[in-house]
This record gives sequence, C-alpha cells and structure tokens, in this order.
Amino acid sequence: MSFVDNNFTVPPPITVAKFGGTSVADHAAMSLSATIIKNNPQAKVVLISACSGVTNLLVELANGIADNEQRSQRLQQLHTIHQNILNDLAQPDSVAGEIHQLLSQVAALAEEAVYAPSIALTDQLVAHGELLSTFLFTQILNEMGAPATRFDIRPIMRTDSQFGKAVPDVDAIRQLADQHLQPLLNDTIIVSQGFIGSNEQGQTTTLGRGGSDYSAALVAEAIQAETLEIWTDVPGMYSTDPRITANAKPIKEISFSEASEMANFGAKILHPSTLLPAVRQKIPVFIGSSKAPEQGGTWIRQHVAQPPKFRALALRCNQTMVTLTSLKMFQAYGFLSEVFRILAEHKVSVDLITTSEVSVSLTLDQTDTGGGAPNLPAAATAELSKLCRVEVEQNLCLVALIGNKLGDAPGAATQVFGALEQYSPRMICFGASAHNLCFLVNTEESRDVVKTLHKTLFE
Ligand code: ADP
Ligand code: ASP
Ligand code: MG
Repeated sequence: MSFVDNNFTVPPPITVAKFGGTSVADHAAMSLSATIIKNNPQAKVVLISACSGVTNLLVELANGIADNEQRSQRLQQLHTIHQNILNDLAQPDSVAGEIHQLLSQVAALAEEAVYAPSIALTDQLVAHGELLSTFLFTQILNEMGAPATRFDIRPIMRTDSQFGKAVPDVDAIRQLADQHLQPLLNDTIIVSQGFIGSNEQGQTTTLGRGGSDYSAALVAEAIQAETLEIWTDVPGMYSTDPRITANAKPIKEISFSEASEMANFGAKILHPSTLLPAVRQKIPVFIGSSKAPEQGGTWIRQHVAQPPKFRALALRCNQTMVTLTSLKMFQAYGFLSEVFRILAEHKVSVDLITTSEVSVSLTLDQTDTGGGAPNLPAAATAELSKLCRVEVEQNLCLVALIGNKLGDAPGAATQVFGALEQYSPRMICFGASAHNLCFLVNTEESRDVVKTLHKTLFE
C-alpha cells in the first residue's frame, strides 16, 4: 500500500516498535505485545529483545561454566523458557525445529566457551536470545492473523568489531536497509532482533546490554520512520525509577536533551545511545507499557513547552572511581595532559571528572556485555603509578539530577545538598552542563539518597 500524491508515490508512514525482555517473556506477554502491533497498521517493523532472563543466562554460559551439571542446569532453564512458549502456540511445529536447532547451537557454544572463551564467541552465544525470541513472536503474530515475517537483522545492522559494545556504521546500515529491508515493508510485518549486528566479515556482534532500544532507533533512522515506540514494563518515563520509590511521577512529555541525560545517567528505561538516531532524524519516541497500553506513556520530542527546573533523578551503580594524585607538586603543570595521554593509550574511556591542582578523580565508562564495575587495566595502572598515586574505589553509585538551566536556578545546589545532610556525596560535578548535577555515593545508601532527594524536589 502506498499513497499517490500528485504523481509522486509517497511511502506510507511507518512506526518502528521495540519490545523489551519482559514484554516477550512468555506466551501471554508476547500475545499482549502482538496485539499492540496488530492494532496499529503503521507498525510495520518490530524489533524484540530476548525473553526475560535469557541474556543473563547466556552471558553466564559465555563466561564458561566448567562444571557439567551447572552448565546443563542453565541450558535446561533456557530450554524450559522457550519450550513453554512453543507449547502454547496453536501450531508449535511450524517453529519447533528452528528453536531446537538454536538451543543445540547454544549448548555447543557453551561448551566451547569453557575451553576457548573469547569476546567474539560471547557475542555469538548471547545473540541466540534474540534469534530464538523472534521465531516465536513471528509465529504468534501469524497465528493472530497479522501476517509477519522473521528477518535476520545482522546483515543490515553493520557494526565495527568491538565485540560486546560494537559501534554501528550508520551510513552502511541506511544503505543496507534500503536494499534489503525497505522492499519488504509493503507486504508484511517485519519481526527482527534488537541488540545484535555483524561486522564486515559477517561475525555476530552486540551493541551492549540493553542495546535493543538503540537497534530500534537505528532501524527507525535508516528507514526514516515517522515514530519509534519503545514498549516495556512501565507506562513511560518517571521522575525516578518507580522501583526506587512508589511516589515517582509519570512524565507525559520530555525533550530529547532531557531524556538523553536520563538515559546517559543510568535511567535503565532507555539505552544511553537510543536517542542519537532519533535526534538526527527528528523522530518522536513514545515509551509505554506493553501490559497496559491504554495507560498512555511518555512522548520524547525535540522541544517541549516549559521544561521544568527539576525533571528527574537517575541512579547508576557499579561505578569505579579512580583518584590520581601528582607525586611532585612542582611538576603539576602538564600533569593532566600526561594522565589523559596514558588513559587514551590504554583505551580507557572516562565518564566524569573533577580536578584540583594536583589531583584528578574520574569515573570509568561502562556497559559492555559483561556488566559489573569496570576495571582500570593493569598496564594503565602501572604506567600511571610512575607519575602519580593511583587509588581505585568501587562499590559506588552515581546519582544524577536532571533538569533545565540548573546552573542559573538560584539555590538549586543548596536545595540538593541541604537535603543530603546525613549522607556523604563525593566527586560532585555541577556547572559543565545546564542539564545535570551529579555525584557519587556508597552503594548501600544510594537508594535512600534518591528517595530523600525525590521527596525534597518532586513530592
Ligand atoms: P526492557 O526489558 O523493556 O528494555 P528495562 O528493564 O531495560 O526494560 O527498562 C525498564 C525499567 O527501567 C523499568 O522497569 C524501571 O524499573 C527502570 N527505570 C529506571 N529509571 C526509570 C525512570 N526514570 N522511569 C521509568 N522507568 C525507569
Ligand atoms: N537482550 C539484551 C539484554 O538483555 C538486549 C536488550 O534487552 O535490550 O541486554
Ligand atoms: Mg532495556
């Protein structure tokens, strides 16, 4: 179907919809998600995650479980999750062969991971979660009378070879999508995988944990979709993670820049890179709950009317803070440039920084497939130790207040730190961005800090 307008054929507007792990956890969840697609004729491209819990199991297997019994137990859990969905299908035989074949491949790769683990093997293995779920979701749509085709995203989701956190090649993705995906969109709903891609050699890569949001945004950009929908387990973005406080307030509309800050600072609801393609292509993004679509959700747009001073609080744990103190005060000039030269040489990506004349504290970037707190590589530590004292601390969380014109807001810092009298915030970053104020706290007190601040600023 296309619209004919003054002799030009204009392609119909397309919605790209993404469903996260809980939205495809089992047959019931998949059916609710499929109903959302069936009810929206514009939703022609669907990207889904692995069924809830599956990627975690696959990561464990990829790390190499030597104990046969323990490994079999994980494989059995994977089998049960997918077999239960198969059992609930009207025609399980149409996809049972593919599902069982993929599960056998998982078992073989899990064994390989014990003897010859590698980051490339990890990606190949964890990609199976999405390869499996897409077979089942496609079948459910078809059984509901919504003609759907499963599409392997890897040939079009071209990335570099940084396994675990691969960087997409936006131009190549656009060209490949034009050639291989666009022509299919008239006839059928396309069901494909979030999170995974492939490099030029055809090896499977992944975009980092939670990367399905990013995949969906990249596809939306490549096919110039009109809207991107992210369906998850909460009805949109809230003033903080609703799992931290029941008083979190829903946000109806939010700007790209505010939502990007939230994602960057750890609001798990969106992968940090998700909004980059949407901003480039000016695609509005909707976030809603697949379990309760009628509740509405959050619209993320380029501009919103009257953005508030305080928008939201985000919490990101597993932080590693490195404090570097110059050994020789009189050589303090050039100290920072030397520090950053060494960090760059060892490909250490830095997130936040605070400095004094003779010392610098920084946090390390994260989110690759392994998860956990990032480490300073031993070689970097050794080289830095010749120049300065190196202290590494973990067990820290980053609290970020996201807002607008925070630097100009009179008393903003007093309001924030006044509320935190009984806590010990560290490494405070304020002033470089008009949109955030952030600091580190110990993991044990982090949720209380967010609750207390939320009460003061939002309730
Ligand atoms: P999915 O598997 O659908 O991608 P995620 O677990 O990655 O879902 O993201 C959804 C979760 O994000 C929610 O369950 C919620 O706990 C968390 N979250 C964190 N910050 C926020 C926020 N500000 N608003 C809403 N949800 C948030
Ligand atoms: N399945 C992947 C993960 O659990 C990607 C995603 O869900 O977005 O990280
Ligand atoms: Mg997610």
